[in-house]
Amino acid sequence: MKYIGAHVSAAGGVENAPVNAHKIGAKGFALFTKNQRQWNAKPLTDENIKKFKENCEKYGYTKGTILPHDSYLINLGHPDKANLEKSRNAFLDEMQRCEQLGIDRLNFHPGSHLKKISEEECMKIIAESVNIALDKTKDVIAVIENTAGQGSNVGYSFEHLKFIIDLVEDKSRVGVCIDTAHGFAAGYDFSSEEGYKKAWNEFEKTIGFNYLKGMHINDSKKELGTRVDRHNSIGKGFIGKSSFKLLMNDSRIDNIPLILETPETDIWAEEIKLLYSFID
Ligand SMILES: [Zn+2]
Ligand SMILES: [Zn+2]
Repeated sequence: MKYIGAHVSAAGGVENAPVNAHKIGAKGFALFTKNQRQWNAKPLTDENIKKFKENCEKYGYTKGTILPHDSYLINLGHPDKANLEKSRNAFLDEMQRCEQLGIDRLNFHPGSHLKKISEEECMKIIAESVNIALDKTKDVIAVIENTAGQGSNVGYSFEHLKFIIDLVEDKSRVGVCIDTAHGFAAGYDFSSEEGYKKAWNEFEKTIGFNYLKGMHINDSKKELGTRVDRHNSIGKGFIGKSSFKLLMNDSRIDNIPLILETPETDIWAEEIKLLYSFID
């Protein structure tokens, strides 16, 4: 089963996200559980939580179809102590929000070394950050997203993701989310059948599909290996439709949230239909 959805708005309260997802015919969805551009957020109210759960049940969104995204401000590999602490606290808050909402996974960008420490040091700090958050929560899986490798972001190779996973103590609560646009920008050629096979073979060898807890389904405005993170609508970028056809018929990618983060939000319903039409 393919759970295609989009990163929908939670404006007015998290309980609106499942409603917005249902409106576009999504079988899964992503959301921010708090304002993604602010450090502080009001705690979720009992009313938010109750209504979120009710709406999820009403529209059939079960565990494993919802993949929240953490705040863009968080850097779990921050080289500076005080800033790292701030990020770790904010991340823990987001993990706890997921717990409150009955969501079993949280997608996050690994972090950036800001040219002050090495990639390896940065990744060690990230793993430690994950361990701290997992210690203080129970049921949520920390899902590391691959990056385009823009700026000083780590996590642009499968080896990076594997490096972090290896240092996480509870392997049952760590996973990865592969963003097709990020992967393509980082040099994984999802645009051809050969490149698609090669990338996923490498993924299987380095990380393993058992760690794949979600995907972001985006085409790319930038060419292969440019390390620039610019999403495009499905079929309108350099990855192209044929690759998404392969993906929709790939049973290794079943039963996880597959989230559109494409820029034309008004055609998400069409993109979802298009993707389902690709299934043979
Ligand atoms: Zn992301
Ligand atoms: Zn993404």
